[in-house]
Amino acid sequence: MKNEKLENILCNQNFSKEEVIYLLSLAEKHDIERLFRKADQIRKDFCGEEVHLRGVIEISNHCEQNCLFCGLRDDNFTVKRYRMEPDEIIETAAKLVKLGIYTIVLKSGEDRKLDTDIIAHIIYSIKKSTNVAITLSLGERGLDEYKTWKIAGADRYILRHESCDSKKYAYYRNKETHTNRIQQLKYLKRLGYQIGDGTIIGLPLQTIDEIADDILLFQEMDSDMIAFSPFIPSPFTPFQNKPAGSVELTLKAIAVARLLLKNVHIPATTALDSLDPQGKEKGLKCGANILMPNYTPYPYRESYSIYPNRRDSNSDPFDSHKLLVDRISNIGRDISFSRGDSLRNSSFLHL
Ligand code: SAH
Ligand code: SF4
Repeated sequence: MKNEKLENILCNQNFSKEEVIYLLSLAEKHDIERLFRKADQIRKDFCGEEVHLRGVIEISNHCEQNCLFCGLRDDNFTVKRYRMEPDEIIETAAKLVKLGIYTIVLKSGEDRKLDTDIIAHIIYSIKKSTNVAITLSLGERGLDEYKTWKIAGADRYILRHESCDSKKYAYYRNKETHTNRIQQLKYLKRLGYQIGDGTIIGLPLQTIDEIADDILLFQEMDSDMIAFSPFIPSPFTPFQNKPAGSVELTLKAIAVARLLLKNVHIPATTALDSLDPQGKEKGLKCGANILMPNYTPYPYRESYSIYPNRRDSNSDPFDSHKLLVDRISNIGRDISFSRGDSLRNSSFLHL
């Protein structure tokens, strides 16, 4: 039976907050399937069939922050901390380019020992021989650092706003302010970075109302990439006994964001794939167009323990690559061999 209200909303180009909440709250199986089908169609129309691979290298798991949800928080004394050497990072990036991966994501905790010059040297060394895109995900850093790294050749920066509720943000992150996070995202955008934002679905105390606000905030910020990860409880954190986030709600959030933001890049996250054996496929079929496989070399990859039982954290990254290629072709999609820059504003390209 047709759901008239749903059909009417799906015809709209823009949604009110109430409509976003309605879509996120859909409970009937056929309604949810309808939402996913529509989001998949919009993904196809605005982004095409290509799946962009962002190759992640987790360059350090040291972190000065104490986010309540994250296994890498400074107070977690059980983590075996590491920091990769610049040459190891540059060599790993070169291997990814040979595999046909044209975005390298350098990811770490907030680790000031990876200082301005070290990061600039790594970016410059990777970029001097190839036009691969470089995405940084190093947490909140200084405004001058963002500028230096842009000049050295960085293209994108991921800084998830995590929660649009400023009080809960301060609680979840244990000190930093929401306003500062948003200001930094705006500053990064002004510098010419393509910005990646995101949120965690299912954090303790989070409401559907807030997830709707998160999605509307992505629209307001004109984010180039947005990510939704289901919350996965991590041992030795204050949230270790809290329930995991819902896979279905995460998929609904991906679908609604696709309907609203049309040509934004959206990954099917590793967290989604860690909670559901078909997580990547499900995400790609309801609006996602990006995967972020992890190529952190041994022995480091096992120690980047944001949450436990991360998919593929024990397997050889280059063997996993073959499996990943199969998983994508099994659902009839193609791997992109381009950088997959933002589709939202072409003036960002090659700044
Ligand atoms: N330190 C940097 C980047 C690494 S953390 C930063 O904080 O920006 C990358 C992301 O992992 C975080 O933004 C957060 O959204 C996500 N994350 C952390 N702990 C998680 C958990 N337990 N479950 C799901 N996602 C989590
Ligand atoms: Fe550190 Fe990022 Fe984890 Fe927060 S989410 S503790 S900043 S690694």
